[in-house]
Amino acid sequence: MTALSGKKGVVNKLQSLLQGQVLSDETTLTRFSHDYSIYEIRPLAVVQPYDVEDLQKVIRFAAGEGFHITPRGGGSGTAGGALGKEIVVALPHDGFWQQVKSFNSQDTHASITARAGMLHNALQDTLKKEGYHLPADVSSAGISQIGGNVATKASGPHALKYGSIDRFVEHIEFVTPQGELVNTSEPGSIPTRILKQLDTLSQRILSDTSIRGVLEARRLMKTSSGYNLFSFLDKNQGTAGKMLAQLFAGSNGTLGYITQVELLAEPYENSRATMLLYFADLAEAARAVNAIRNLGVAAIEIISRETALLMGKKEYRNNVLEGENHTLLVEFDGHDMYTQIEAVKQILRQEGFTMAREPVVATDEADIARLWKLRKQILPFLNNLGPNLKALAVVNDVGVDPRHLADFIIELQNIFTKHAVETAIYGHAGSGNLHLRPIFDISQGGLQGRIKRLADDVYGAVFRYNGTVAGEHGTGRLKAPYLQQEWGDKIYNTMKEVKRIFDPDGLFNPGVLLSGGSITDNLRHELRNSF
Ligand SMILES: Cc1cc2nc3c(=O)[nH]c(=O)nc-3n(C[C@H](O)[C@H](O)[C@H](O)COP(=O)(O)OP(=O)(O)OC[C@H]3O[C@@H](n4cnc5c(N)ncnc54)[C@H](O)[C@@H]3O)c2cc1C
Repeated sequence: MTALSGKKGVVNKLQSLLQGQVLSDETTLTRFSHDYSIYEIRPLAVVQPYDVEDLQKVIRFAAGEGFHITPRGGGSGTAGGALGKEIVVALPHDGFWQQVKSFNSQDTHASITARAGMLHNALQDTLKKEGYHLPADVSSAGISQIGGNVATKASGPHALKYGSIDRFVEHIEFVTPQGELVNTSEPGSIPTRILKQLDTLSQRILSDTSIRGVLEARRLMKTSSGYNLFSFLDKNQGTAGKMLAQLFAGSNGTLGYITQVELLAEPYENSRATMLLYFADLAEAARAVNAIRNLGVAAIEIISRETALLMGKKEYRNNVLEGENHTLLVEFDGHDMYTQIEAVKQILRQEGFTMAREPVVATDEADIARLWKLRKQILPFLNNLGPNLKALAVVNDVGVDPRHLADFIIELQNIFTKHAVETAIYGHAGSGNLHLRPIFDISQGGLQGRIKRLADDVYGAVFRYNGTVAGEHGTGRLKAPYLQQEWGDKIYNTMKEVKRIFDPDGLFNPGVLLSGGSITDNLRHELRNSF
């Protein structure tokens, strides 16, 4: 370690440099030891920088003394990316980091530039007042920050029609691991060493047919795993700065600290309708997804019968998710929605899908809002099943090409039966992205082994379908051990090169995104102690 050994020395030194807070009390360290993942890592100190200058000071201090930095937003991540052993730098939920710096609109498009600490729903509220919205609408809007959303390449149910957040990222401002401030819209601020190395890497990627082939083949898949190398494919269509901004989408705080984001927004669509389709068989529901997903619908969510039943146990279930059947929640928007509703009904009839009961269509805004509220509350309900019953985020964000979704689901059901684990299956089926929440009784022994074996089996199935371990929640610590298997050696090594370009000394978020570890390293103590 450094000349400044000892927690007290580090905290005092940092506090003498900064206007913001440097915290190392018990309560803070315990709070920042957790996020929404299965992991627990206690930091040395938590810094809440007052502004960008403050942030640069912390980062320069860390670079000089050889400390690791872990960027943290709202701490809502499910993959453990916001946990670190040394200095966690978290953006406070007030003041400087909540500012909207500019908003510009031009009929069908608008752009907003906001500080990275702004909560997602505060940004949406600002846009809504102007008649716009960010279509990448995460369900964690009340607890996640816009910088964290970009860093995880987040998206929401409407990704089927509108795509993930990277589609809306125009530019970012970030602090490099060496402490320089870069704004991708100002070419002069990008260090020449970064530009040169990215250019060399980009030429290599574009001229390597095997790397390029994999990227071209997977670019339509909804994935937030690994670095966003797709940005290199578009290099010639935009500026180097734009490409750089795109590369940060999904970077999980391993390349630099995002301080500001410029995002495109779209006019808020007032005309919406939501249809509920009921199936006795989950794979049949998945086949129906594949039949209707290309009709221009905005979202298709799947909710398994078991998920609805678990919500019923908590007495939140209502007669919409009735717990007897598996449900597809299909959303339509825009002028064509009534034509689309008829097209969906017709295709399902013509192709002979077996439905358990008549579809229900909601057109009233309050009814639609109630349905989405119910859908978005699934995870909070699952997080609250009881003191020993835990719906663990172990394999919670997998994805496959929707054409394989039905077969994939059958394989998953067999795996969960083999492991004798009840599992909530729900998520963004229209994009092939499923949230799987196996429920473990943590009072029973052998938990670490059970977690590892289950993850190996589920991810094994994901790889058989050439799918992804992270549809939208980013790689974090959870999926880092499986990244090489997903992308293959060549692309994995390319990702390592990206890391070296920005952070040659490995100071930013070690163990996140690229890691040789195991999925059960750093488990929460209550899971670790369950042998
Ligand atoms: C109830 C619930 C619902 C959810 N629903 C969705 C959903 O619909 N869609 C979805 O995509 N995800 C969802 N998530 C997962 C999570 O909310 C997202 O991954 C979110 O984008 C994380 O943002 P955050 O600000 O909380 O980031 P954190 O959890 O604090 O950090 C996540 C990662 O981003 C990095 N990071 C954070 N801020 C910065 C920054 N300023 N600069 C650089 N790196 C940074 C961290 O180092 C870490 O690696 C959900 C989670 C929960 C608990």
